[in-house]
Amino acid sequence: MIAVLTKEAQRPVVKEFFELFKTPWEYHRPGNEYDVLLCCGTEAIDSSARLVLAYSAERQLYDENNGIQIKAQQPGGFVGYKEESIPIYGNRVTLSGKGVTVLRDNATQETAALVIASNRQTFVRIGFDLFEETRVSLTRGQPAKNSAIPTLELHIAFLRNLIVTFSTFLVEVPPVPANYSFMVCLTHDVDHVAVRDHKWDHTTFGFLYRATIGSLIDACRGRKSTQHLRANWVAALSLPLVHLGLVKDFWDQFDRYLEIEKGLTSTFFVVPTKGDPGQDANGFSRRKRAVAYDLSEIATLLSNLREANREIGLHGIDAWRDVQKARAELEKIKLATSAPGVGVRMHWLYFDEQTHGILEEAGFVYDSTVGYNETIGYRAGTTQVFKPLDVKKLLELPLHIMDTAIFFPAYLDLAPEEVGTAIGPLFENMARFGGVLTVNWHDRSIGPERFWDSAYVNLLQRARREGAWFPTAAQAVSWFQRRRSTTIENIAQDGDTLRIKVSVGEGENDRLPGLRLRVHKNCGQTVDSLLPLKTKALSIDTTFNHSELLSVRL
Ligand SMILES: [Zn+2]
Repeated sequence: MIAVLTKEAQRPVVKEFFELFKTPWEYHRPGNEYDVLLCCGTEAIDSSARLVLAYSAERQLYDENNGIQIKAQQPGGFVGYKEESIPIYGNRVTLSGKGVTVLRDNATQETAALVIASNRQTFVRIGFDLFEETRVSLTRGQPAKNSAIPTLELHIAFLRNLIVTFSTFLVEVPPVPANYSFMVCLTHDVDHVAVRDHKWDHTTFGFLYRATIGSLIDACRGRKSTQHLRANWVAALSLPLVHLGLVKDFWDQFDRYLEIEKGLTSTFFVVPTKGDPGQDANGFSRRKRAVAYDLSEIATLLSNLREANREIGLHGIDAWRDVQKARAELEKIKLATSAPGVGVRMHWLYFDEQTHGILEEAGFVYDSTVGYNETIGYRAGTTQVFKPLDVKKLLELPLHIMDTAIFFPAYLDLAPEEVGTAIGPLFENMARFGGVLTVNWHDRSIGPERFWDSAYVNLLQRARREGAWFPTAAQAVSWFQRRRSTTIENIAQDGDTLRIKVSVGEGENDRLPGLRLRVHKNCGQTVDSLLPLKTKALSIDTTFNHSELLSVRL
């Protein structure tokens, strides 16, 4: 059991941190015996724990007692652990003293974490505040330049590694569903149902330009094949026939998605109101943000999607900034889909620090807006569904990969054959850390003039090959809700067998995959032979679905 000592103000962060790193812990209670004492931003206390982890970016009394000198560093740097670099967003210090260096400051190569071992106790001094780092990731989020780094998962991996190195075992419920390697959540923001809806507006002229001249430029740059160039010119020429209803609307790609995703499921986020651009953070309306379809016009489409086991969520316009508007938008989706719970992703990813509170008050089940418009990766530093710090129940399903970020010339501007390499590291992180990879491919992106279908098909193939579970957004959130309701109540060691009592709270949902209990075992590593974070240290998984007593042989 880990005992935590921290400032009162960090308590909501601590609670959420240990939902992401689901291992037994409690706030330190005087008189209780613990294996590990984790102090963060506070003085340590005299403890019988075999391992004391002292995270702080300030000088503490224990520094003096352990002969450690500290030196403040310029904010905005990285610390390195073997081949990994972890960005530190809050204050950080470097350390000098007698001990073994386990983290280094990337800029100065000075020690950022120091292990001082004695017979009685191992003391690890780490020069930043773990919970402050967690708070920054889950609120402000990471700047786009660090988007590739799953920062919170690395903090968890480093902490886990220390605990396993200096103890005999560690038990956790990892963010990995039973019988699968990780989750991939396929979503589609529905911005343009049909080109026919647009008459002669900026969208149509934009399409005509991109399909003709734009495609020619793309073909010259190797971004489009001559086959796609030809198909785009044909599409542009056929536009009058589409308007006359003589040719199928080439932006209507819903059946094609169902075919590509055969045997899987996905979530479609639809806009509640036609012609409403909403407002941005400065109160301005940008006419281009309005969509040209109305829920009443796509009733048949919505019922077809639901029949095909697709989830329908809200693609919000003003729900992010106003609770009345959020309620009205939610009601429209409820009426159109008769779904009991509704999730949301904002159109153009509009968002501010009030949004999660507003969405919770309006009655949404989850949000999936926290991501980047301009790049792919981990805005909140995590592969996991999390609860924003200022709400009670609403969960956030962070967005990791969006087609427009990959292909738009102003963003990553990748050629289709470059996409596999670009998203490779995200798949590697899924295999390492578990969690859910959330993908947004816009409704019309697989048709003219984009033809971004091959990259999507390849992504699905890779996810299938690597053993992913494909939940809808609501199912992914439910699975994490179930994991959050789980506690490891008791661990008893009997020889080389651990008897572990787990209890699963609300929502006994047998339609979802079960949970895993993972026991990490020290396989001989010491402070002189620390393992890289990438190594799969010896761990034993058991699966469970209900409250029960599990036995694990070490
Ligand atoms: Zn949108």
